[in-house]
Amino acid sequence: MRMIKPLGQLYEQLRRLPGVGSKTAMRLCYHIADMAEEDVRGLADALVAAKSKVHICARCFNLSDSEVCELCRAPGRDARLVCVVEQPQDVAALERSRGYNGLYHVLHGVLSPLDGVGPEQLKLKELVQRAGSEDIREVIVATNASIEGEATAVYIAKLLKTLGVRVTRIAHGLPVGGDLEYADELTLSRALENRRSM
Ligand code: ZN
Repeated sequence: MRMIKPLGQLYEQLRRLPGVGSKTAMRLCYHIADMAEEDVRGLADALVAAKSKVHICARCFNLSDSEVCELCRAPGRDARLVCVVEQPQDVAALERSRGYNGLYHVLHGVLSPLDGVGPEQLKLKELVQRAGSEDIREVIVATNASIEGEATAVYIAKLLKTLGVRVTRIAHGLPVGGDLEYADELTLSRALENRRSM
């Protein structure tokens, strides 16, 4: 049996989300059709607000609901330490590990020539600007342990060395090819502790 049109349209939208297969999309569709109207409105409002009220921090490029994010504004953090990550969700993962008290810099991707991602597509120019204008003692590169992540780390090390900034790379108790996002807290805090100079 085919779904009636409005549900079919909802199904198509849900299917576009990561991790949502056809069965899950179908189940969600019927669940939403069965929900109280005010609950559906609450969900719809939250979706729109998540997009319209979330900005990118002007300093570290993490997601934020204000011009400069909470982490950058926190008084107790060591601003001389900057940890470079690929995605905002990596900041969340490292924060969960509680092993780090410095600031971050989110690249929003990794160098990947085959996918057409060069240095201009990442927040690399902004990283160099920060290294030049802020009092940074060490930049910890915490890109993923993938080929692209490693290549990006080497690129950053070269870029910052000319500015005389110490660059370190997190240790890889992390599985090769493994994403930071999925690493457990202990692995992440050990990886930070055992970082090496680049
Ligand atoms: Zn920030």
